[in-house]
Amino acid sequence: MKSKDFGYQAIPPRHIDYDKNDRTLFYFLRRREPSISICFSCGSCSATCPANENTPFSFYRIMLYIRRGEKLQIAREINKCMLCGKCRLVCPKGVNTRNVILITRDFLNSGGQ
Ligand code: SF4
Ligand code: SF4
Repeated sequence: MKSKDFGYQAIPPRHIDYDKNDRTLFYFLRRREPSISICFSCGSCSATCPANENTPFSFYRIMLYIRRGEKLQIAREINKCMLCGKCRLVCPKGVNTRNVILITRDFLNSGGQ
């Protein structure tokens, strides 16, 4: 029997092995842009992001990937940001989001060391 189409689909399960993840980017960012530590995952940045309107890109999710050390996921998404700075204007904690993106791109382009 064909299942009913409710207009959404279940997200396939994704196993995250924290012990195998590489958190060097998070530690590097914490030194270069300490405001990353005060992000409290409210999601305001993603709610206002123009890239998030038309693509699955989300700065909020990038922050999660950075904390978890999921570099592959970050590399897939990070270039969708247009560096418009809207997220920085609305962030209630004053996280320098653009700088987080710029440092992250530099880090990944330099081989992530
Ligand atoms: S708006 Fe600021 S505090 Fe909220 S999730 Fe984004 S970066 Fe973090
Ligand atoms: S700077 Fe990037 S993450 Fe922030 S609102 Fe603009 S496109 Fe979105």
